[in-house]
Amino acid sequence: MSRYTDFYQRSLSDPDAFWSEQAKLVDWNTQPDQICDNSNPPFSRWFVGGKLNLCHNAIDRHLPARSDQPALIAVSTETDTEQVYSFAQLHREVQRMAASFRALGVKKGDRILIYMPMVAEAAFAMLACVRIGAIHSVVFGGFAAGSLASRIEDAAPVLVVSADGGSRGGKAVAYKPLLDEAMRLSRHKPEAVLLIDRGLAPLPLVAGRDHLWRDLRKEHLDAQVPCEWVDSTHPSYTLYTSGTTGKPKGVQRDTGGYCVALAASMQHIFDAHPGETYFATSDIGWVVGHSYIIYGPLIAGMATIMYEGLPIRPDGGIWWQLVEKYKVTVMFSAPTAIRVLKKQDAAYLKAYDLSSLRALFLAGEPLDEPTAQWISDGLGKPIIDNYWQTETGWPILTICNGVEKAPSKFGSPGKAVYGYKVKLLDDQTGEELAEPNQKGVVAIEGPLPPGCMQTVWRDDERFVNTYWKSVPGKLVYSTFDWGVRDADGYFYILGRTDDVINVAGHRLGTREIEESIAAHPNIAEVAVVGVADQLKGQVAMAFAVVKDSAGLTDEAKRLKLEGEVMQLVDRDLGAVARPARVRFVHLLPKTRSGKLLRRAIQAVCEGRDPGDLTTMDDPSALQQIRDLMKA
Ligand code: AMP
Repeated sequence: MSRYTDFYQRSLSDPDAFWSEQAKLVDWNTQPDQICDNSNPPFSRWFVGGKLNLCHNAIDRHLPARSDQPALIAVSTETDTEQVYSFAQLHREVQRMAASFRALGVKKGDRILIYMPMVAEAAFAMLACVRIGAIHSVVFGGFAAGSLASRIEDAAPVLVVSADGGSRGGKAVAYKPLLDEAMRLSRHKPEAVLLIDRGLAPLPLVAGRDHLWRDLRKEHLDAQVPCEWVDSTHPSYTLYTSGTTGKPKGVQRDTGGYCVALAASMQHIFDAHPGETYFATSDIGWVVGHSYIIYGPLIAGMATIMYEGLPIRPDGGIWWQLVEKYKVTVMFSAPTAIRVLKKQDAAYLKAYDLSSLRALFLAGEPLDEPTAQWISDGLGKPIIDNYWQTETGWPILTICNGVEKAPSKFGSPGKAVYGYKVKLLDDQTGEELAEPNQKGVVAIEGPLPPGCMQTVWRDDERFVNTYWKSVPGKLVYSTFDWGVRDADGYFYILGRTDDVINVAGHRLGTREIEESIAAHPNIAEVAVVGVADQLKGQVAMAFAVVKDSAGLTDEAKRLKLEGEVMQLVDRDLGAVARPARVRFVHLLPKTRSGKLLRRAIQAVCEGRDPGDLTTMDDPSALQQIRDLMKA
């Protein structure tokens, strides 16, 4: 039996012993007295009775050994700034932020919404939050007022932390007007807003509500805010993610399970060590940013790089320059970023000393073979695909490099990770497909391992109904991904089973985009599908029926309406959700019972056979889409 197979089997055959061993990787104020309470499935509770603090594990516990070592390296090629915070300095900044939160009335269990660009203060805010037992909800800075408003309404924060703006490709992007608009739209009105002024965009303040970090920081320069010891099951954060319905779900994470899962993953998956530097190129608005820009590396006593900017600015060598400069040992990125770099001169990969780098991990979307091959040849390092979701918080499938350096198979994110009982289920019968090479829905038998979602924020019913299915004798969690497993236990992910699309690693619900477009006064009906794209993996494509088609025979008018629809999506959800094209049709393909045939539209857009269309009402609808795509 291979070392990994043995490790994996142990995690499943005696999970209590396995996870109590992993729990030793973190600092507890009170030791847990039960490893897993699964008496009320699917609501499993990990490390029950234990008390700890995430911020303590990320910062304070490292102070005796490494207070002067780098902890947070904030690099912005947008503002040409680079600042290194040691563990001691990070400790001070986080306490100043925590004291400011308290001064603004935040108490344990309150929510703080963080809508921020990739600046050090965003990390201070997240860490300060968990330090005082408040619950953060980070909203990706690329989301616009509508998305932000729905999250403010659901999370009901007492405080919002934001900034005047961010910057992308050298252009300032103002955040404050979007925030003010979201606050206007939301029925919940947070009492206070704390703002970081970067001098990038105007920052009009609302009297009595808006406060400047600069001022509060000065008042709390010497603040000492001890960590609040919270129950292991105390929520550390919520993070919203898209699903089939229009309303995003607040994925709720605990404290103890998450802390242990991350600490264990730093060793067993990433083979990362204290004192080294970790570089994840994601954004704090996504789960990778939570787990592997902020918490994972710091819990492991590593320095972490937070990068604001594009991978090709000032040139395509910038990331490798950072690897050389900070002696990065583990790097984490997404396939889209590598496809962007692939369009640059491959010489950039050879221009820097990358001897410190042990492996590059990629996740968030399917890693195509040519991209994997290109970066593998260019770097001469192991390229490790890993598959997971906002819901799980850490990898479900990968190669556990810290346990055994097993070979990767390009196109596969690897094998089931320890703790996860990964199954493939028949989508009709729910039965397990045990034979190799059968296509099924990727599912995880409960209980989920530590670190995965506890529930949907304030909606236990939605958690149960959305994710869990009873199959004979067990409860299983559905990932909503299709997959197959080969005879060696390597999985291959074949796309989503629901209406979620993945644009450049960003998870978007087509329903959310449809709802936004349908708000245009001249749109009667719309269908949004994900279509394969060479660079972004997928792009959104919209097909809309207009209310008043008079005048749309004219190309200029069609383009004008298309532009208006795109602007609407930009304003409502953000440019990340903007469809690549909005095409106008006289009818949408539907079944005779009125169900939209999205899969058929998608197949036609990708030049594939749309399959069985016997239930289709009017074939001319699909023909029009076929003609438009050929044009
Ligand atoms: P998110 O919750 O935003 O991280 O998106 C999770 C979804 O992204 C998964 O359910 C998959 O559809 C997709 N995904 C993530 N990682 C991979 C991967 N390594 N290979 C293929 N698909 C992936």
